[in-house]
Amino acid sequence: MGKAGWDDEYDAVVAGSGAGAMAGALTAASNGLRTAVLEKTALLGGTSAYSGSAIWLPGTQVQERAGIGDSSEGARTYLRALLGDGSAAHREAFLATAPELVEFLEKDPAIEFEWRPFPDYFAAPGRLDLGRSFVPLDLPAERLGELAGLVRPPVDRDRAGRGHSASKPMMQGRALIGRLLLAITATGNGAVRTETPLTDLIVEDGRVAGVEAGGLRLRAKRGVLLAAGGFESSAALRSERGVPGGAAWTMAPAGANTGDAIAAAVRAGASTGLLDQAWFCPGSLMPDGRAAFTLGFRGGLIVDGSGRRFANESLPYDQMGRRMAAAEGPFHLIFDARSRGLPAISVPPLMPDEQLASGAWVEAATLPELAARIGLPGDVLAGTVARFNGFAGKGTDEDFHRGEDPYDLYFTGGEPAVVAVDEPPYVAAKIVLSDLGTKGGLRTDPDGRVLDGADRPIAGLYAAGNTSASFTGPVYPGPGIPIGSAMAFAYRAVQDMRRNHP
Ligand SMILES: Cc1cc2nc3c(=O)[nH]c(=O)nc-3n(C[C@H](O)[C@H](O)[C@H](O)COP(=O)(O)OP(=O)(O)OC[C@H]3O[C@@H](n4cnc5c(N)ncnc54)[C@H](O)[C@@H]3O)c2cc1C
Repeated sequence: MGKAGWDDEYDAVVAGSGAGAMAGALTAASNGLRTAVLEKTALLGGTSAYSGSAIWLPGTQVQERAGIGDSSEGARTYLRALLGDGSAAHREAFLATAPELVEFLEKDPAIEFEWRPFPDYFAAPGRLDLGRSFVPLDLPAERLGELAGLVRPPVDRDRAGRGHSASKPMMQGRALIGRLLLAITATGNGAVRTETPLTDLIVEDGRVAGVEAGGLRLRAKRGVLLAAGGFESSAALRSERGVPGGAAWTMAPAGANTGDAIAAAVRAGASTGLLDQAWFCPGSLMPDGRAAFTLGFRGGLIVDGSGRRFANESLPYDQMGRRMAAAEGPFHLIFDARSRGLPAISVPPLMPDEQLASGAWVEAATLPELAARIGLPGDVLAGTVARFNGFAGKGTDEDFHRGEDPYDLYFTGGEPAVVAVDEPPYVAAKIVLSDLGTKGGLRTDPDGRVLDGADRPIAGLYAAGNTSASFTGPVYPGPGIPIGSAMAFAYRAVQDMRRNHP
């Protein structure tokens, strides 16, 4: 142990290794700060590594290259329409930072992005129908060498303990984490420590001076950035805070995000907000009791516990999740032979035979028979499907207007969004309320500084990503907001450390 009881000294200590944490660590390390990334599990990347890595950072050089006419002004109009002005200071900080952050990241030879069409989630002024989010380019694993094994594999392989596919480049969230890891490593200033969970903060003379992690006391001379995910995997905290869904159904890596960093900060005087919120989504129940993020419906209809539809099934997933939270389950996606398997995208992919064998999917030759097998009144389910099929015939969903928004048609490949369900056998797939992480946590100012109960920043303490209360409140404006905002506020936090804690 070194002087004053520290095991090691850094300028910046970052807890977590998702996109926000890694962007913050790169900002610190590339500006000459000795930086530690502390990751609880044996693998880097958390839910960010599982993600599609869409990044919603508007008005940057990436959209300019793509010629899609995005601007900070348009994004401001959009965010304002959705969020009002309650979080205006955070919104303005986010908008001002996005172009600067992306320029900084893309200056690094390891990092390159590309715009991809993916519509913003709400019909509101300032929306871009083809979207404004972008993704990292795929990363050949050889570029990372042995470090590639440290990045969390895609969710299907990870849940099965199968590691990365040797034949494929790292894609999506893995490419993002891999590229950030490559860049951090190249600075020579970044130490990445896996299996080193942050357990507490060390406060000295009224400021956060370091952390306890993995049995070590690590000094953080400039500051500690908490970007260690939310508490989606803690059943106890979810029920205490009233987050609908379930710890077994969250998409976060099993057991990883249990709110440890939030709890440590609260012990140091931090205040919290938005604790009943998550980035919600429908999930397909899987044989192991976990869920598969299910989006992009191109057929079928979803019924509630009474056997009736309750929403436009093609809604962006967070909005559909919120409709589920307000309705009465159990929920089932009803589809037929016409869709040749699940008429939607699921992450991880589902194996129909296994789904049927486990009972998560039920099949029958007629709708009344199907209804009986899932405990619904046969006449109600048959009536719901008949009405839905009538809408398919007319080309108009008179109940929920499915197919009228550009987002509804984004996944249908030019086909109508409402397609008749009338070719037996029929399938009922159990749908549960899943999430991509909680989005409530530590209250921060626009520089990512963690606030106490009297709105005063706690010196030396910062938070970003799902460890912090999102400036978007209960709204999920567009694809890539979780990761884009995590990266932007982590970047701002480190800039503040550099300015104010020399
Ligand atoms: C299939 C899928 C697709 C998605 N697609 C997108 C998308 O395209 N765009 C988008 O913006 N969002 C997407 N999301 C959502 C997004 O991935 C998450 O909300 C976001 O990545 C969370 O980032 P985070 O840094 O807060 O947490 P995480 O990425 O989960 O990282 C938290 C890390 O902290 C670690 N940790 C936890 N506790 C401790 C501790 N005590 N000490 C040290 N480390 C700790 C965890 O092990 C984990 O590695 C998707 C999610 C899923 C599942």
